[in-house]
Amino acid sequence: MPAASAQHAAAQAAPPAAIAGKLLRWFERHGRHDLPWQHPRSPYRVWVAEIMLQQTQVQTVVRYFERFMARFPDVQALAAADQDTVMRYWAGLGYYARARNLHATAQQLVAQHGGVMPAALAELQALPGIGRSTAGAIRAQAFDLWAPILDGNARRVLARVAAIQARPGTARFDNSLWPLAEQYTPTARVADYTQAIMDLGALVCTRRSPLCGQCPLRSACLAYRFGLQDALPAPRRRAARPQRQVELLLITDSRGRILLHKRPPAGIWGGLWSLPEVPAGTGAARHCREQLGLHALSVQSLAPLRHAFTHFELEITPLRVQAGTPTGIMDAALQWHAPGALPGLPAPIRRIIKQQFADSAQGAANP
Ligand code: SF4
Repeated sequence: MPAASAQHAAAQAAPPAAIAGKLLRWFERHGRHDLPWQHPRSPYRVWVAEIMLQQTQVQTVVRYFERFMARFPDVQALAAADQDTVMRYWAGLGYYARARNLHATAQQLVAQHGGVMPAALAELQALPGIGRSTAGAIRAQAFDLWAPILDGNARRVLARVAAIQARPGTARFDNSLWPLAEQYTPTARVADYTQAIMDLGALVCTRRSPLCGQCPLRSACLAYRFGLQDALPAPRRRAARPQRQVELLLITDSRGRILLHKRPPAGIWGGLWSLPEVPAGTGAARHCREQLGLHALSVQSLAPLRHAFTHFELEITPLRVQAGTPTGIMDAALQWHAPGALPGLPAPIRRIIKQQFADSAQGAANP
């Protein structure tokens, strides 16, 4: 074992009470106290925020959260909405399975729990889209009851404080961190502590160049003591992301309307309106004729664009099609929309349309 590793393997992280006390004192002065889901801090609002925050930064979530709450002020309103409307208010946030799970959970809460969010970890984790850390965050933030969390920010802070060498994404990493998360979480002021560790990770113990000079945990932090704060947590071992190609049709009719296709519930952009996709090897004109009931008067390739998903990268080639009179093989999953009155669309689709209809589609793609 190299000298530094041997040294910090022998070192002990600070006692849990000391960590919680330092974090809470820092939080009082420097933490985030004005997030919209903190005022009022109801279980419903905390739950929606936690789901939005699963893959998205706070700054982006705030905007979406306020709009979502204005349309779905309580769990009954969310449960009663149709999925299209929910997806419209989620469009642009990405990771759309979250919206489908949110909607399914709202319906389950109304049907089985009288519209009341449970506080027990096991019951929370039994709901769609709620894993161990999200369940902990909901219980802690909404009910101020003891529960550890391990979101991305808490992981980074704890991995550094205790100088965890295991690589993120491995069972060893998680198995090292959960017991720490449990030990460090205090039994009082749990909501504040949970917010504090998330805020410290977001504002001070950042992924790159952590601001150790401003950190309340500096004297307790093993990574800082051994100069490992830039090296921990170790970088994830990532396999090269596979590439996929797709051709999407931006079809307009003689009235300037755009043809949209509702995607199947599973798969990318599941349940969202999008541009019709041409199956590989079919050709745009043939797809229009045989599947959409349209005669393509002209087909023009537009500049391709790339979009990264978690497990693959998509290269989209948009094809602009001017359509003649429909012959009528339309189905319910196809609809014409004026460029200024589009439903919620995935971000790259919105971008393609915006580039072609700069004025009329401006700001109209989302509610
Ligand atoms: Fe993170 Fe530095 Fe604080 Fe350690 S001292 S927790 S590395 S910011």
